[in-house]
Amino acid sequence: MGLSKTIWANPSEFLCAEKPVDPVMFFAPSVLQATARRFIDGFPGLVTYAVKSNPEEEVIQNLVAAGIQGFDVASPAEIDLIRRLAPGAALHYNNPVRARHEIAHAVAQGVRSYSVDSRSELRKLIEIVPAEGVEISVRFKLPVSGAAYNFGAKFGATREMAVGLLRDVAAAGFIPSLTFHPGTQCTDPAAWDAYLRAAAEICRTAGVKAQRLNVGGGFPSHRLVGELPRLDEIFALIGRVAHEAFDGAPPALVCEPGRALVAESFSLATRIKGLRDDEHVFLNDGTYGNLDELPIAGIIDRITVMSPEGEIRNAAPRERVIFGPTCDSVDRLPGEVALPGDIAEGDFVIFAGMGAYSVATNTRFNGFGNSTIATVLQLTP
Ligand SMILES: *Cc1c(COP(=O)(O)O)cnc(C)c1O
Repeated sequence: MGLSKTIWANPSEFLCAEKPVDPVMFFAPSVLQATARRFIDGFPGLVTYAVKSNPEEEVIQNLVAAGIQGFDVASPAEIDLIRRLAPGAALHYNNPVRARHEIAHAVAQGVRSYSVDSRSELRKLIEIVPAEGVEISVRFKLPVSGAAYNFGAKFGATREMAVGLLRDVAAAGFIPSLTFHPGTQCTDPAAWDAYLRAAAEICRTAGVKAQRLNVGGGFPSHRLVGELPRLDEIFALIGRVAHEAFDGAPPALVCEPGRALVAESFSLATRIKGLRDDEHVFLNDGTYGNLDELPIAGIIDRITVMSPEGEIRNAAPRERVIFGPTCDSVDRLPGEVALPGDIAEGDFVIFAGMGAYSVATNTRFNGFGNSTIATVLQLTP
């Protein structure tokens, strides 16, 4: 693309100068650092980052610069990435099912915190990981509520089973802790209320004092114009309910947001390849690319449309079907999306809040998926 600058003022400066034919992710480090500080100041405990939501190096480096000192990692590759970029950071290996060679890799890299949701995987950890000073968190689940989709379908022990696992962890000489994940894009603060009270109940029944309680990711990001995330409300609720449920002596709290930390720091600029007979919009990016997550997590309606000359389209909105560039018919954004009535072929369609599960899950299906990242001072188009 022949970039002449490394940091641009805003997306329109780049788009007007470069007129890119491929999708561009605009990254604002200032927004990421401000969000990280909002978590660090607001959350009543340790804030760690779930690497899978966006493992770009600039993301990790800016989080470290903002004061994030712990990372939720799920694979040897993520462990190595963080060891390289943030050698002093704490690593929490919170993927509850791991191959033996993956566990051995974590031990060699000095990982001292693991999660588990089954007897078979706890047995593996006991065999391979020296217990001294190492934490094992039992991951439990409740019937899902408030999230975009059900995380409990894959991971989490029932409450009854968690009681037994917590006892076994303590008996094996590991530091016993608890963890849960209420489900991603969880807009209902009450989900944390139910999980915190269940955690206290598990500890009481097991007769084991958990050292730490990891309240997961799942914190919502701003996807819909009309729905602001209620982060401060969720932080306050977590602090208050943890004290109540554990009779004034809660375990040390940890959170591991992915989405809510990184989403707002990226905007995705796509381009209209074709406006088929003035009906369907075909973009140069879709559900096999950076918009991969929209069919399961729901639409993002924070959209700006801009002409190649940088003029914001603002005619009365009209609902349209939006397709991605591949020849697969599932490559379509959910529902119909309101776009300005005066959009035209060649326009840029810019989605806000696109940092999570976008660059991380982009495929190269059908020869598409080529996109770049441009750093900007601010994301306002
Ligand atoms: C994916 C994941 C997260 C991050 O979830 P978000 O909904 O993106 O905040 C946190 N913890 C674990 C164990 C995960 O698998």
